[in-house]
Amino acid sequence: MVLAKQGWDDVIVAERLPGCGPQASSREYTYALKKRTLRFAQVMGFEDQLRHEGVAINRLLLEVIDKSPERKRVEMNTHGEDGVLYMRRKKLLEVLTDQIEDHYFNSVSIMFETQCVVKNDDSGKLVVELRNPEGDLVRTVLPKLILACDGVHSKVRTTFEKTYPQRFGRKIRSSPSAGLLYKALLIKGDALNTSMHTSVILRGGSKPKRQYLQVGLFPSHEEDARRIGSIVLPEDNDLWKIDNCDECYEYFQQHFPRISVRDIIDRDDMKLFLSSTPGRFPHIQWSTGFHSVSENAAYVILGDAAHSTPPDIGEGVNCCMEDLHVLHDSLQRHGDDLAAALEEFEKARRSDVEALMRISRYAHPYLYNQNPLMKKLWTAELALRVVLNKLLPAAFDQHIIFLINQYSYSEALRRDLRTKTRISFLTVASLSALLYYLNI
Ligand SMILES: Cc1cc2nc3c(=O)[nH]c(=O)nc-3n(C[C@H](O)[C@H](O)[C@H](O)COP(=O)(O)OP(=O)(O)OC[C@H]3O[C@@H](n4cnc5c(N)ncnc54)[C@H](O)[C@@H]3O)c2cc1C
Repeated sequence: MVLAKQGWDDVIVAERLPGCGPQASSREYTYALKKRTLRFAQVMGFEDQLRHEGVAINRLLLEVIDKSPERKRVEMNTHGEDGVLYMRRKKLLEVLTDQIEDHYFNSVSIMFETQCVVKNDDSGKLVVELRNPEGDLVRTVLPKLILACDGVHSKVRTTFEKTYPQRFGRKIRSSPSAGLLYKALLIKGDALNTSMHTSVILRGGSKPKRQYLQVGLFPSHEEDARRIGSIVLPEDNDLWKIDNCDECYEYFQQHFPRISVRDIIDRDDMKLFLSSTPGRFPHIQWSTGFHSVSENAAYVILGDAAHSTPPDIGEGVNCCMEDLHVLHDSLQRHGDDLAAALEEFEKARRSDVEALMRISRYAHPYLYNQNPLMKKLWTAELALRVVLNKLLPAAFDQHIIFLINQYSYSEALRRDLRTKTRISFLTVASLSALLYYLNI
């Protein structure tokens, strides 16, 4: 879409899957589309379609259902001025595909069930082979530009890394949430007796830790029959060992005694849940270069192929959309000078992407209760930051999870580190004053 808008034609999008959905259970999730995505959609002219398909939420409404008789309800102003648009991955892919089919059909062709393989030919040039699901060669293309957007396990990026090692390398950092396993379970929306616009946490028993169970539900359309329940647990959790439908119902019922589990989960959905393979949260990783220009062609990596993190702060898709927005602006500014446009794209993206990678390491990695103590410390810091920011907003910025919705990632990081330093000074000064006062 970005290329077609600049007047490029003969753009080929190769996607190895048969279409936009249904997504595998490991990829069936609800995105929280924020400012970065909405601005890109505005520039590209599909914001209305996005808003039509998503659920716009301005204030977070959260209901916690656990073993206690009363449901806990929390209301928070966490979504910033732009609000958040919740949308299923499948819907987002459909909106993007429809845009191409409706407006760019002359210049863009989408080839589903087409595997893209990038190779060196005999003369050392990179060529693209398009192959069908059986692996047969459908077409060979000698491209002017290759955009590698093939996700966290990008094979195209790996080829770039081998061909241009001086331009493309990779940095990897661990995160407390990397390696956790994810699966979606469909839950009947109306059976929970709560508004579809409310986020819900079904919280099960936590001891021993291997048996901890939590299901998170994001807002959904009122007319959706079923909501996506997200389950994120460590690899050694007992749930992953269950392969029998009745056993699984029983396991859930033990955890959630206040609801009738058979009433909220259809048997077919439970079977689907059990038969699917979980997705694994990636490490934090990013590419040391985002583009290269050779005599024959230009190469760019975008989205998760260029940078990926576990989805603790829900920035993955928003950061991808910002990549596209920046690429769009750079191409527009430099017209036919592709080398200058890509140089500018890389320069504009580098500091923000690196800042997001740093932020992702500490912003909210204990969200999934892997370490209850660390989660409590995180909550304490959040509360402290809210209070300090209310008392002295000029001196203390909000918590990083709010800052990323207001500023660029690099500015959010700068403000967060500045506030952390000030809190450290304040702590040391208060302790010194106390010791002085006590005459110790
Ligand atoms: C469990 C989980 C939950 C997440 N939750 C959130 C969230 O709540 N909010 C958020 O913002 N982000 C979330 N993310 C991250 C978000 O999904 C990614 O950041 C986003 O999908 C990246 O988009 P992408 O287009 O770069 O890659 P992908 O979405 O991975 O798309 C890559 C596509 O390339 C195709 N492909 C791969 N190789 C080839 C090939 N050789 N030839 C042709 N096609 C190929 C794949 O089939 C795939 O469709 C989550 C990620 C995971 C794993």
